[in-house]
Amino acid sequence: MNIRICVVVICIVFCALSLVGCKRAEVKPAAGLQVVTTLFPLYDFARTIAGDKAQVTMLLPPGVEPHTFEPKPEEVIRISRAGLFIYTSRYMEPWAEKIVSGIDSTALRVINAGEKVSYRAVAGKDVHEGGKEHGNDRKGMDPHIWLDFTNASLIVDAILDGFVAADPGNSALYRQNAETLKARLAALDQRYRSSLSTCSTRKLLHGGHYTFGYLAGRYNLDYHALSGISSDSEPSAERMIALIREIKSSGTTYLFAEELLSPRLTETLAQEAGVGILMLHGAHNVSRDDLSRNVSFFDLMERNLEQLQKGLSCRPK
Ligand SMILES: [Zn+2]
Repeated sequence: MNIRICVVVICIVFCALSLVGCKRAEVKPAAGLQVVTTLFPLYDFARTIAGDKAQVTMLLPPGVEPHTFEPKPEEVIRISRAGLFIYTSRYMEPWAEKIVSGIDSTALRVINAGEKVSYRAVAGKDVHEGGKEHGNDRKGMDPHIWLDFTNASLIVDAILDGFVAADPGNSALYRQNAETLKARLAALDQRYRSSLSTCSTRKLLHGGHYTFGYLAGRYNLDYHALSGISSDSEPSAERMIALIREIKSSGTTYLFAEELLSPRLTETLAQEAGVGILMLHGAHNVSRDDLSRNVSFFDLMERNLEQLQKGLSCRPK
């Protein structure tokens, strides 16, 4: 065999092998049920329920502001190819209903995970008007339902219903995983209740958007936030002055700030009032770092509890 023939033979063999490789990659079907979720708590609960029986992804890119998020065309395509799409409510994801109604897929099941939750109406005095809110639906109802752990448990139920309907063959495993999750949520609720019952102040002063209304309501804290229920709402100068006055008169030594948002305003307020800053996590979304470290909703809530105990001077139990 001369060299030229040899090269040709090697080429043919190589091409044939690479074609086989390509073909395999192309025809490989996606394994199991495909689930697309919007916010981090849904993603974390859904992946726990799924175990290794379904593939769960989060629509929000890590670190992205969730209140102003709207899916791009390629993200709409991801939803259209899924077997299950899970969102929290039209108050949080006002785009969801419109987008799914435009998707022509018989395989897609849509779960409104906040359907059974009782919403807190947000009164004008809580929202501290002056911020810009978009659309009627976003005004009036507080969308941060996952921060009340009894609501989080109802969200788990709704996600479970979706999994069981979409993939009944694995329903026993899904039910078992959901039960474990709900037991953890109940234990977390108990721990928050007992830890936060011993604090020397009940004033939760927050230099961010109105995120922790459910948490404050459940554990009987007096919540004051700088701005409205959407994180793009901007506080008025009067509101900033009022909050500084509130901090000074409360005798607190800490102002709470929130993760994933610019700390500039909170820093100015804390400096003006002469107090320190502690971080709280709203858990709408997570940073790229937290996502790659595989943090869970429970990790974020444990961090929050530590910060709250410090900021509200609660006695350790
Ligand atoms: Zn928010």
